[in-house]
Amino acid sequence: MVKLKCGSFPELLVAAGLQPGATLMLHGSFRAIRRAFPALTIEEMIQDIQARITPSGSLIIPAFTYCFKKRDGSHEIFDPGTSSSKVGAISETFWRMHDVVRTHAPTHSFALWGRVRTSGGWDSAPVSPLGAHSVLGWLARQPNARILLLGVSFAALTFGHYLEVMAPVPWADFSPWDHLGVEKTGVSITGEMQLCEVPGCARSFRRLETHLLQSQKLASLHAGALRVLSIPVHLLLDAGLAYVRRHPLRFLCDAGNCPPCDARRQAFATAL
Ligand SMILES: [Zn+2]
Repeated sequence: MVKLKCGSFPELLVAAGLQPGATLMLHGSFRAIRRAFPALTIEEMIQDIQARITPSGSLIIPAFTYCFKKRDGSHEIFDPGTSSSKVGAISETFWRMHDVVRTHAPTHSFALWGRVRTSGGWDSAPVSPLGAHSVLGWLARQPNARILLLGVSFAALTFGHYLEVMAPVPWADFSPWDHLGVEKTGVSITGEMQLCEVPGCARSFRRLETHLLQSQKLASLHAGALRVLSIPVHLLLDAGLAYVRRHPLRFLCDAGNCPPCDARRQAFATAL
């Protein structure tokens, strides 16, 4: 644990290892960020990141809407130009900002700024929403890419789902949301698309966080009350992927606590 004396948000970005030209995925709780930097707005925070990494860098923020088809017909229809993000205020502000493009995946769209927009190498609406051809696959192939967690834990680490697909965990393509009537189909204004996977519960990704911190492969930074994790993507691809392959069950919640994790455990208990 490293305590920072950061007078400003840009100083925090430097302390977190962000260089000009950096490739960055961000997950953040603005409530937690505001406690450390009370005068900062979401727009200013994003502009500070953009100024630090410059347009030759890339900023990626999930803008998920989870527009899965539901058996009872109650699903929403994804429109990349109007559908609100369901993953927080930072995401909702960012995808609507100037020079940001949004991918067309009905369930798991990403908002992109900088080099990633025009670099190619990712599908806008891949059948594996968080797999090899998604923006996460592109991120995994970039040298020196980072994922920045501001006031959130690995329970917000979307890249954990990419690790599940890449490992793969035995239940990678088993949808755990049947009890909610969710089908393996995304619905958008251009129609329906069958999906290979429906990502499940991420709460237990915190076990990977604990493992990386305890083995001192990762250190947390603290700016006042704000906890920051600046994670090299290569660490997740090396130590993270090895951990998931060695202990796939640790990526599920303990039995009896979580319907989606229980569904996956029951379907694959005999396979492990
Ligand atoms: Zn769970």
